[in-house]
Amino acid sequence: MRLKGKIAIITGAGRGIGKATALKFAKEGAKLLIGDVNDSDLETVAKEIADAGGEVVTMNVDVTNRQQVREMVEKAVEVFGKLDILVNNAGITADGQLHKLTEEQWDKVIDVNLKGVFNCSQAAINVMREQGNGVILNASSVVGIYGNFGQTNYAATKWGVIGMTKTWAKEQGRKGIRVNAVAPGFILTPMTKKMPENVLDMMKNKAPLQRLGTPEDVANAYAFLASDEASFITGAVLSVDGGIVM
Ligand code: NAP
Repeated sequence: MRLKGKIAIITGAGRGIGKATALKFAKEGAKLLIGDVNDSDLETVAKEIADAGGEVVTMNVDVTNRQQVREMVEKAVEVFGKLDILVNNAGITADGQLHKLTEEQWDKVIDVNLKGVFNCSQAAINVMREQGNGVILNASSVVGIYGNFGQTNYAATKWGVIGMTKTWAKEQGRKGIRVNAVAPGFILTPMTKKMPENVLDMMKNKAPLQRLGTPEDVANAYAFLASDEASFITGAVLSVDGGIVM
C-alpha cells in the first residue's frame, strides 16, 4: 500500500476523476476527507470506500467558498490529526468562443478552477508547514498547455494552475512540501460526455496511444505523485494524455 497512514483531502470527489482518485487512494491505504457540492454523489463514493474497509468522511464543500474550505481543512485535522495530501481536483467548464463568451462564464470558471485551487491550498498550507511535510496536487489539463477551441476561460485557468504549482513548489519546498500538477488529456467522465462525439473521436485519433483516457489513468498518476515514491519530484506537470502533448 503506497499511501498507508496518509491523510488526504480530495475536492470534487463525487464523480469522474475525483471519485476514481478517492477510490484509488483508499485502496492504497489513505484515510480521506472527500468534498463536493453534490451530497448524494459523495455518499455513494463514501459507501463504496467504507464497504471495502476504508476510512472516509464527507463534506459538502464549494471550493469557491473560503469559509467552507477552511472548515474542510479543520475537519480533516480534527478527525484524523494531520493532513498529508491535498488533491485540488474540483473543476468545471463553461465553453464559448471568444466572441460569444459571457463575463459570467469567464468568472464562473475562474472562480472554481483557479481561485478554488488557491483557496484550498492556502487553507492547507499552514497545517503542512507546521508539520514540515505535505503534498499538493493540482488538476491542470492539456488544454492549459496547448489551448482548445471554445475554451478561453478553461485554458486560462489550467495554464494558471501550472504557474501556481511551480510558484508554490519553489516557495514551499524548504518546508518539506511538494507541489505538482497533472495534465490529463481527454478523459471519459461526465465533464467530457458533454462534448460532441466527433470531437472526442478526433482527440482519440490524435493521441499516439489511440484511445481516450479513463478516470483511473489519472487517479494512478495522482497516487504516484502523492506517495513517497515521488519524494524528489516537485514543480512537475505530469501529462496523462496518451501522448497528445509532447
Ligand atoms: P466532472 O466529472 O465534472 O467532476 C467534477 C466534480 O467536481 C463534480 O462532482 C462536481 O460537482 C464537482 N464540483 C464542481 N464545482 C465544484 C465546486 N465549486 N466545489 C466543489 N466541487 C465542485 O469532472 P472531471 O472530468 O472528473 O474533471 C476533474 C478535474 O480534472 C477538473 O479539474 C477538470 O478540469 C480536470 N480535467 C478533466 C479532464 C477530462 O477530460 N475529463 C481533462 C483534463 C483535466 P457537480 O456534480 O455539482 O458538477
